[in-house]
Amino acid sequence: MSVPIGHDRAMMLRALREQVATASRRLAAEGLVLGTAGNVSARQGDLIAITPTGARLADLRAELITVIDPGGEVVEGTFAPTSELDLHLGVYRRYRAGAVVHTHAPMATALSLVLDELPCVHYQLMELGGTVPVAPYRTFGTTELAEAVLAALDGRTAALMANHGGITHGPDLDAALSRTLLLEWGCELYWRAATLGVPRTLDRAQRADYERQVAAKAYGTVRRLP
Ligand SMILES: [Zn+2]
Repeated sequence: MSVPIGHDRAMMLRALREQVATASRRLAAEGLVLGTAGNVSARQGDLIAITPTGARLADLRAELITVIDPGGEVVEGTFAPTSELDLHLGVYRRYRAGAVVHTHAPMATALSLVLDELPCVHYQLMELGGTVPVAPYRTFGTTELAEAVLAALDGRTAALMANHGGITHGPDLDAALSRTLLLEWGCELYWRAATLGVPRTLDRAQRADYERQVAAKAYGTVRRLP
């Protein structure tokens, strides 16, 4: 999508920064981000609005959001972008995403300490790609972390990050945000079930059947009665 010029461009950037600030406050309100422990970005054309480093997500407003280009150069804003800049840029470059959300949400982070992969224990997790891999631990804010997480995201819209947290992406911020909520729900579901016994998982054939049914029923979309 091309970026409009002049007044339209200013309006578009304002709206994009507003979206990122609103999503950040929502994550904090949902208890998925404590203090500064998360970052959010959204792309329009080749401009990316991204949360600033060191900011409390609960307090973010549009004017505090930074706008960068795909190379990470600041286009608009007065604050340095998140320390996970390489991770966000990598997801846009490799997966052509429209938005990225990274948090240290309680359940996702807890499971990232003990699992190598979150099994596909519920068909709703198919929206994340089925199973959710756990990327190996690397120091925060490094290109090594970005590379490990980008590899884990292959064929997925979500990944856990060992001893760190979770990440989701989507075509827009609503999708990336709802996938973060879904990932946390799935992690909590798995945790609850694992305290009772060994959770059953959906095998490859069951996951393929799910995909066929989604295609046949247009599942997940609101439809008028004929
Ligand atoms: Zn983090």
